[in-house]
Amino acid sequence: MPAFGRGLSAHAVVHWHRLMLVDCGEGTQMQMRRFDLKLKQLDAVFITHLHGDHLFGLPGLLTTLSMNNRTEALELVAPVGVKDYLKRTLAATDSFLRYELKVREIEADAPPQTVYENRSITVTAFPLRHTVPCHGYLFREKTKRPPFLYAKAVRDGIPVEYFQLIKQGVDVQPAGMDKFCAADYLGAAEAPLSYAYCSDTRYFPELVETIEGVDLLYHEATFLNDLAARAEETGHSTAAQAATLARDARVGRLVMGHFSARYSGLEGHRNEACAIFPDSHPARDGEIFSIGKTSTPKPDLIKATIKVE
Ligand SMILES: [Zn+2]
Ligand SMILES: [Zn+2]
Repeated sequence: MPAFGRGLSAHAVVHWHRLMLVDCGEGTQMQMRRFDLKLKQLDAVFITHLHGDHLFGLPGLLTTLSMNNRTEALELVAPVGVKDYLKRTLAATDSFLRYELKVREIEADAPPQTVYENRSITVTAFPLRHTVPCHGYLFREKTKRPPFLYAKAVRDGIPVEYFQLIKQGVDVQPAGMDKFCAADYLGAAEAPLSYAYCSDTRYFPELVETIEGVDLLYHEATFLNDLAARAEETGHSTAAQAATLARDARVGRLVMGHFSARYSGLEGHRNEACAIFPDSHPARDGEIFSIGKTSTPKPDLIKATIKVE
């Protein structure tokens, strides 16, 4: 529940000026305005499970998009039952959507599967262990093309009309010239970036296989470790457990959230997690976590924006 200025669950993932939302707790659309996230750029929404603290903001958000005259389709990925929830909620409030909502429902016992894809990113849903069917989401960039070494190609006198072929990895031999190997004019491709969102779930070490090596891991840390038994009982995790997963999966950085309303401050979570995995951060509303190249003006990065926790 909201407490001490902390809102409910929702993350905005920004990639190439497009926006995806993971979970949509009550108040999400207000927070999106507050933190200047453009609803127009929203392509897809992913809901982990059908508990209200992750879902109650969705009908409001969807109807606002309609009132904003949205015409493009929106993708929604969520556990089975979301269609029925939205149908009933919209009908009961005499609301309707003027755009197409493409809903993909995930079965409770579904194995990890690709649930969304665009030109540059793939999203995989994977099972978590909560009190109701719950799925985490793994965002992974597709393999990037190696950069074309333009200056070198010009210096070596390759005619411009051959550049396109070289960019595609094709060796070329212009008339009257030596052969040019494409590999000599292509730099090293950057490693694809990845981000995983895990909420809500009890601790289970097998999760390591799924989130292995991600650049940024979000994992819930509802409790501190003195309440590990309560965490287990209620299908949640502790800061120490989130950090243990981060360490064992060798992730780049850990962001924690979904804190119980019993904690007014989050130093306990920071200290407990950092003792196991030093790069651990309790998220604050509106905090931005960037991965990849941040120095370039091009948005060739995944920006996981912690909007409301
Ligand atoms: Zn829940
Ligand atoms: Zn929750």
